[in-house]
Amino acid sequence: MLYGAGDVRCEEVPEPKILHPTDAIIRLSATCICGYDFWPYRGLNDVMAPMAMGHEYCGIVEAVGSAVTTVRPGQFVVGSFCISDNTYPHCRFGFQSSCVQREFMTGAQAPFARVPLADGTLVATPELPPDDLTLGLLAVSDVLGTGWYAADAARVQEGSTVVVVGDGAVGLMGVLAAKQMGASRIIVMSRHQTRQDLALEFGATDIVADRGEKGVAAVKTLTNNIGGDSVLECVGTQESMTQALQCARPGAIIGFVGVPHGVEFDGKSLLFAQVGLMGGPAPVRRFPPHLIDLVLARKINPGKVFDLTLPLADAAEGYRAMDERRAIKTLPRV
Ligand SMILES: [Zn+2]
Repeated sequence: MLYGAGDVRCEEVPEPKILHPTDAIIRLSATCICGYDFWPYRGLNDVMAPMAMGHEYCGIVEAVGSAVTTVRPGQFVVGSFCISDNTYPHCRFGFQSSCVQREFMTGAQAPFARVPLADGTLVATPELPPDDLTLGLLAVSDVLGTGWYAADAARVQEGSTVVVVGDGAVGLMGVLAAKQMGASRIIVMSRHQTRQDLALEFGATDIVADRGEKGVAAVKTLTNNIGGDSVLECVGTQESMTQALQCARPGAIIGFVGVPHGVEFDGKSLLFAQVGLMGGPAPVRRFPPHLIDLVLARKINPGKVFDLTLPLADAAEGYRAMDERRAIKTLPRV
């Protein structure tokens, strides 16, 4: 539970129960801490009441409500951080994160969790996956889904030049996604050695360690003064968005998935930049069949982004480690 800025406590809470016929209860095989959790953790979002944390999850179905038809107890399922019915027109267009019934998942940093709208939110694997693929499947539920969406939104194509702003877990997944989509050049803006190494392993071709104007100049130099065809903005600050805009060539699209905090646009510079913007909370539910297949076939290994495992009882240390950038992404063991 998050009580306030910097105050995470592991507590005993009642086991979740089916509240609606469309719910499922799952036993978590894995869960993790998200970059998004740090907005309230750092006091940048208000915490009105203790928050049950955790929205990235996969596990075994324990029980389902009477109206659930697509998953059954005993199956391994991957969820999405956005709860959706997957039937409303916005869902049909592939924007399940704007579902009229949307809720945001909470309470998954726990042994059990209740998932509302189970039919629209959960995807079962064909059979129980081997244990060593659990983390890759966990990544699908948010961090990979979000990085993938950033690349998809930015229209990464075969042969594209892609610039990734942000070397957090989502940025690194954006690199992996851009590589899978056939980008020939992937430039990552990163200042941290371990993250640079992982970015290179996921397919980055160039690293730019500078930020701001110097960083933009370095990207311009690498691209013959043109800029990227696609830019992935994976941070959500004014500085990162400004960098993304300045690294985009005219006609480029910026896929932005960092939740903006204090980001403002100047209409005139936006007009003259002549770029497209496509962002939002990732409709993770659009991608699972494909992403689950890639993980199960061992074509991608997004689970490598988790670099610190701790018992759930030590969740507070897990938050501190990520906050202080000692860890890219923490995995509280459930
Ligand atoms: Zn998340």
